[in-house]
Parts: sequence; structure tokens; C-alpha cells
Amino acid sequence: MGSCLFCDIAAGKIPCTEVYSDEKFLAFRDIDPKAPTHVLVIPRRHIGGLTELENSDSGLAGELVLAAVGIAATAGLSEAGYRFVINSGTDGGQTVGHLHLHILGGRHLEWPPG
Ligand code: AMP
Ligand code: ZN
Repeated sequence: MGSCLFCDIAAGKIPCTEVYSDEKFLAFRDIDPKAPTHVLVIPRRHIGGLTELENSDSGLAGELVLAAVGIAATAGLSEAGYRFVINSGTDGGQTVGHLHLHILGGRHLEWPPG
């Protein structure tokens, strides 16, 4: 496997502004935030994206969402609301090939997305 930006961040080889860390997940601030709060939550294990998830990853996928809900709550977003986004592939706008969930909050988010 070639180099992966988010694997390098998870390994501490590339710096990030960490907001949450446990044995399975890391959350850090997006380098180009699209909202006042813009956090990325990644599994430490390399998974290329949604299309690479296997049935055996169901626990991990659920834990990813629940970790993100907790991070959003800690960021004070629960009452006003927030949005989770997972981009997949070219049409979905995925630019980094390591599964990541965006937490966006702190302003009113338009719908539909562009
Ligand atoms: P996506 O377009 O869904 O693949 O999201 C990738 C996100 O990673 C974008 O929002 C980028 O701004 C963000 N990003 C890229 N490089 C870094 C980095 N070194 N640290 C933090 N966020 C990054
Ligand atoms: Zn990776």
C-alpha cells in the first residue's frame, strides 16, 4: 500500500490538532474548515472509504458514528445541531483515500449541498 495522509496523521508522523483519541479512532480539526467547528473522525486502521467497508466492519462503523456523536456533544453542538458527512468517490467529493467522517457545526448549514 502506498502512503496515506491520514495513516501518517494517525501514526503521529504528520501533525494535527487533535480533539479526540482512543485505541480505534482519532479526531482532529480539518485544515481547511468549512464551518466554525469542522472535525474529521478517522479509524486508526486504514480503510479506503465507505466502499471498502466489509460486513465484519459493522461494529467499527457503528462505533465511528457513536464516537462522532460524543465528539459533537463535547464540542457543544448537540442543542443547536450539526451535520455528519462521509464523502465517497469522485462524485461524492472524496479527496483523501482513508475513511473519514466530517463533523460540521457552529452555523446553519444549507441543504441541499452543492
Ligand atoms: P474529503 O474531501 O471528504 O476526502 O475530505 C478530506 C478533508 O481532509 C478535507 O476537508 C481537507 O481539508 C482535509 N485535510 C486535508 N489534509 C489535511 C491535514 N493535513 N490535516 C487536516 N485536514 C486535512
Ligand atoms: Zn490510511
